[in-house]
Amino acid sequence: MKAMHRLAPDIVDLLTCIVRVCSAYQGSVISWCRSRRTNKDVGGHHASKHLCACACDVVYDPRPRLGNGGKPEPYRPPLSLLQAECALYNVKVIREHGHDHFECSQLPLRMYF
Ligand SMILES: [Zn+2]
Repeated sequence: MKAMHRLAPDIVDLLTCIVRVCSAYQGSVISWCRSRRTNKDVGGHHASKHLCACACDVVYDPRPRLGNGGKPEPYRPPLSLLQAECALYNVKVIREHGHDHFECSQLPLRMYF
């Protein structure tokens, strides 16, 4: 295997954004780079940005809620807040079933796969 080039600035921005989001909202990345086979197996779009490392899926830790006896409930940060924060990194946020999908607004100049 040949030594890896530096990542394109778009992907660095995406990952910086993801680290900030996961840190601020107790998130975890459940999907980043995907092979074509895995993308097909999970029902991803044939032109998914996961295929070029330009997308990440994030889930958030449940949070205890007042009035619920402290029992943790599913949590997601307000979408409009996430979208505003991520726009600073040229990252688009799409709320999907069970997770939030973050992707570079444009494809990178250099493809890795
Ligand atoms: Zn995704």
